[in-house]
Amino acid sequence: MTGAERSEVQVYLALGANLGDAQASVLAAIQSIAVLPDTRLIATSSLYRTAPIDATGPDYVNAVIAVATRLNAPELLVHLQRIENQAGRARPYRNAPRTLDLDILLYGDARIGSATLQVPHPRMNERAFVLVPLAEIAQDRVSKDQLMAVGAQLIERLAAPLH
Ligand code: ADP
Ligand code: MG
Repeated sequence: MTGAERSEVQVYLALGANLGDAQASVLAAIQSIAVLPDTRLIATSSLYRTAPIDATGPDYVNAVIAVATRLNAPELLVHLQRIENQAGRARPYRNAPRTLDLDILLYGDARIGSATLQVPHPRMNERAFVLVPLAEIAQDRVSKDQLMAVGAQLIERLAAPLH
């Protein structure tokens, strides 16, 4: 199928950065995603500041965005990894500080379990820095109980929504 024949799927993406100008990296990534082929930006959460989990280094800047896309999930992942690499992402060890991390949280209602892609993202429910911004733009995708479960994690809202 060509891109034009596929229907649009609503997708939620998590963005995070904690090296260099993390806020600028996240904002630049949103612009790069917004101009991907067959993709349009639907909503952007506020930016948030969070302490690293299971990791060291500076605080993170995090956000969640919604896009509508005709890319399939593996195609979208390839684009996101290209954007990560262009931002100077290196992977010296697990949970290392990063200039940019782009994760697919939800791809419509799809459940994907391949070697390179798991959707819904397997760790999203453990992370306030995912659930809080996701709830801001998609209240129906996050329950009160899910938010309560991560309520002990510190998360500070940095800026008003960008849209
Ligand atoms: P993490 O985001 O877990 O800190 P990385 O960004 O280095 O780690 O990603 C490691 C691998 O996770 C990627 O190479 C990718 O193939 C895989 N992956 C699995 N599921 C997803 C997903 N939903 N979104 C993004 N990457 C994913
Ligand atoms: Mg990642």
